[in-house]
Amino acid sequence: MTIAATLSGAQLGLFMASAPLTLGLIIYLVAYMAKRGEGSIVPPLGQSFACAKCGKRNVREHMVPEKFDGAVAWYCDRCVGEATSRAS
Ligand SMILES: [Zn+2]
Repeated sequence: MTIAATLSGAQLGLFMASAPLTLGLIIYLVAYMAKRGEGSIVPPLGQSFACAKCGKRNVREHMVPEKFDGAVAWYCDRCVGEATSRAS
C-alpha cells in the first residue's frame, strides 16, 4: 500500500513537472499556426508595387492607387500627377 502511494506520488510529481512544459509547447504551437495562417491572408507591410507608367518599384506607402473600372493601378508619386492631368 505504501509502495502504491509512493508510485502514484512520483507519477503525480512527474506530471506536475512536465505539465507547464507541455502547456507551453501547445501554446507556442497554437500561436505559431495562428500567425502562419494570418500571414497567408494578410499581405506583408513591406509589399512593393510596380508603377503602371514607368515600372519603378516602391513600397505601398509611397504609391498612389488609381481605380479604372474596378481594377487598381499603382502609380509612383512622380507619375501620378502626369496620369491625372492627362485624364482630365
Ligand atoms: Zn512611375
